[in-house]
Amino acid sequence: MSSVAYDPNNVFAKILRGEIPSKKIYEDAHVLAIEDINPAAPVHVLVMPKAAYQSFDDFVAQAAPADVGAFFASVQKVAEKLGLKHYRLISNHGSEAGQTVFHFHVHILAGKPLGRLLP
Ligand code: AMP
Repeated sequence: MSSVAYDPNNVFAKILRGEIPSKKIYEDAHVLAIEDINPAAPVHVLVMPKAAYQSFDDFVAQAAPADVGAFFASVQKVAEKLGLKHYRLISNHGSEAGQTVFHFHVHILAGKPLGRLLP
């Protein structure tokens, strides 16, 4: 888990509060999916729970198992809604893993052959 507290001023918290705009792909009571502002593939969508968790590790450690399961079902729903037959999921936990926004999110990447896991 993360050693520092959740920062309510991170960019996704601001998007969730409607303080800054985003291109919405899917939303329900618990989940928001938006287009990534700096896409790494033709399809690059970010799926996040609305509740405040810093990362994958915090979410799985702190949320109720049913909420964890429901979240990942929502990720699948978003991929299905996008009509994706092939896609990659990424979730970075911690800055060394590449996390830059400290509100848990899963990247859905697709739309071209994605090649190996890391360049
Ligand atoms: P990560 O580096 O795994 O924390 O992913 C954060 C992602 O958020 C990056 O791919 C950024 O391009 C994306 N991002 C940052 N700011 C915004 C924003 N305002 N709207 C949409 N995506 C954003």
